[in-house]
Amino acid sequence: MSPGRLSGPRRDPEADWLGWREALETILAHCDVLPAERIEAARALGCAVAEDVKASVFHPPWDNSAMDGFAVHAGDVRGAGPENPITLPVSDDIPAGSFPSGPLAPGTVARVMTGAPVPADASGVIRVEHTKEAPPGEVSFFQETDAERNIRRRGEDIEGGDTVLHQGDPVTPATIGVLAMQGMSDVLVRRRPRVGVLSNGNELADFDEVAEVRAGRRIMNSNGHALAAQLVTAGAEPVPLGIARDDADDVRRCLERATDCDAVISSAGVSVGDHDQVKEALDDMGMRRLFWRASIRPGSPLTFGLLGGRPFWGLPGNPVSAMVTFEVFLRPALRKMMGHRHHEAPRVVARARKAISSSAELTHFYRVRLSRVPGDLPEVELTGPQGSGILTSMSSADGLLIVPEGITEVEAGEIVEVIPLPGDWS
Ligand code: AMP
Ligand code: MG
Repeated sequence: MSPGRLSGPRRDPEADWLGWREALETILAHCDVLPAERIEAARALGCAVAEDVKASVFHPPWDNSAMDGFAVHAGDVRGAGPENPITLPVSDDIPAGSFPSGPLAPGTVARVMTGAPVPADASGVIRVEHTKEAPPGEVSFFQETDAERNIRRRGEDIEGGDTVLHQGDPVTPATIGVLAMQGMSDVLVRRRPRVGVLSNGNELADFDEVAEVRAGRRIMNSNGHALAAQLVTAGAEPVPLGIARDDADDVRRCLERATDCDAVISSAGVSVGDHDQVKEALDDMGMRRLFWRASIRPGSPLTFGLLGGRPFWGLPGNPVSAMVTFEVFLRPALRKMMGHRHHEAPRVVARARKAISSSAELTHFYRVRLSRVPGDLPEVELTGPQGSGILTSMSSADGLLIVPEGITEVEAGEIVEVIPLPGDWS
């Protein structure tokens, strides 16, 4: 690699040591929303809806009973009570799945099950618990308060023509329910990004060479697997590009497998080191580098650019740095590409259990555990040592505590912001 090529981008003051917000804005500005496709709703979980969806089916489709009981005319049961039962003839029986034989005849009641249509003219449904059947064909009422209740009106949830889903809404189990309610098995969503995942380093092995790892001669390509899993949680589709050796030609060969990807992430080989062959390969492939370091810890050696017009992230090699930079810089970008309305996850507001010292020149993303506090904000505490190679600091974390640039101390009890990690916390 020629020294000129290396020093070129590093001397560009605008492209170096971006603040994390500025770095994220630069990334978002260069990630475009992907085209839409119509797919089976059940396969669209986590995608964003790409058009407004209008209802054609009313829900409920008819006035129906909210209870098992008897449809009545309010006037016929006025004054009914525990000491003063009123007994009336049953003129109709309407289980779920059937319809009334006609409007409710005056002076009679109709047995009706939950969800079944109530006869026209009925004012309410008295719950079966407040009645006693008095054969043959009669029922006594011990209560009148339900006489004008327990009817769910046609279209009270959804009327024909209502917009039930808006462009940019996420597809969730509930939205799949709404679509199914409308008889829709498919939905128009933004395509899931296909993202190439490249790992770099002579020291790396994968499962096919695990004996080398067990013998202590190589380390596992844990980044390739952790990043692929993060992509899946973001709704993207990982495309493994393999492990490139510390050799620019090998890097190039691996990157050429990314022809049908929408974006590429690569870990390692982008920092200030002797064997950073990724940079050389990228320069040869004509990457337009937009920045190459961010003022964050962990993860400052972060490159972002456009490779063949597609977003390319050169993430740091250290396992924690790779995963943290994914959460901070990739997850929001993928959400934008998928057409989600909000790109960043909502923050969890929490209280620091103990004081935390930080260094002022960088924004820190500490790995923390959150714990619920009854009646108060959750508490956060560090997961333990925070070195960028300590992957268990990440695997035991529920979130990333943001300590912005310029802050040197978070006091015990102070309110802080946490980026939640996918998963559960207690
Ligand atoms: P580098 O960026 O190549 O200097 O790598 C920084 C550190 O991350 C080194 O300790 C590497 O061994 C480690 N590392 C690089 N790539 C991976 C990977 N794919 N999986 C796990 N560790 C890695
Ligand atoms: Mg390396």
